[in-house]
Amino acid sequence: MFAPYCPDHGSRVLLFVENIEAIERTPKGIRIRYRCNCGHRGLWSAGTESELAA
Ligand SMILES: [Zn+2]
Repeated sequence: MFAPYCPDHGSRVLLFVENIEAIERTPKGIRIRYRCNCGHRGLWSAGTESELAA
């Protein structure tokens, strides 16, 4: 799970695998395209792969 900031919520929200639309691997780490429970779509950057698994 991960907790990106959702501007529609105005706070961080706890999201799960079901909320992930795509995972992009970049030289700087992993970026996750997510859809919040409220319908907001955003991009969340995970620093490292180990952080994603935590
Ligand atoms: Zn939201």
